[in-house]
Amino acid sequence: MTHPRLTFHGAARSVTGSCFRLETDHGEILIDCGLFQGSKTEKELNYRPFPFAPEKIAAVILSHAHIDHAGLLPKLVKHGFSGPIHATHATTDLAGVMLPDSAHIQEIEVEQFNRRAARRDRGSVTPIYTSADAAACLDLFRSQPYDSWCDVLPGLRARFWNAGHLLGSASVEVELAQAEGDPLRILFSADIGPDYKLMHPDPEGPSGVDYLICEATYGDRDRIDATADRRRELLCDEVRAAMHPHGTLLIPSFAVERAQDLISDLGRLIAEGD
Ligand SMILES: [Zn+2]
Repeated sequence: MTHPRLTFHGAARSVTGSCFRLETDHGEILIDCGLFQGSKTEKELNYRPFPFAPEKIAAVILSHAHIDHAGLLPKLVKHGFSGPIHATHATTDLAGVMLPDSAHIQEIEVEQFNRRAARRDRGSVTPIYTSADAAACLDLFRSQPYDSWCDVLPGLRARFWNAGHLLGSASVEVELAQAEGDPLRILFSADIGPDYKLMHPDPEGPSGVDYLICEATYGDRDRIDATADRRRELLCDEVRAAMHPHGTLLIPSFAVERAQDLISDLGRLIAEGD
């Protein structure tokens, strides 16, 4: 193989399960290895064998700790992957909390499923991975700073750019040496922003890349381009509408950091007497 080859194993025709496989003359790597989330059909994809050989993957580069990008890493390790997982310092820390939590969820869900299956005389299933697999996976993390090159394979290096999306989140720039001429540069945007985050500077990225692989979770939706102040105003209106008369406000906020942003906004509204 002279030309590198890129295969999309997730987050294509769906928005979860991000996983890109890059094959080069010196081996193959993954960028992200996420869990499929959403409908029953999508979740079932987590139980199928990987469409590649995990033991042949030399390394993983992880963009951020959200489970739709990192959640199948313990399964990858369970099935034979033993290379390094490169991630930023904060992503490494966050994965240390989120992957064991995800394993715990798999174990609980399977236990409930099997209890129901036993009552109906149906076969049982095993969890996609367990807490032990998550612990083994965490041992493979190699924590990297932003803005500095890290050697991944001979002739392949990578660099993390702040994606302003989640603590530690990054876009991944990959540079591949070519037999002749300039190296090939690919940018995996991963999840970016949104703007006006409370806890991160705005996203950054390199220019002049040869290929841009762009995540488009909200690609078909118009978002309100709201500053932090405007967002708090909108939240305040909802809270007041619910309080009047003695209503209940139910806020589904499940993604890591979205809940923290919300609590921070509510705290600010309370502190300011609103
Ligand atoms: Zn994300």
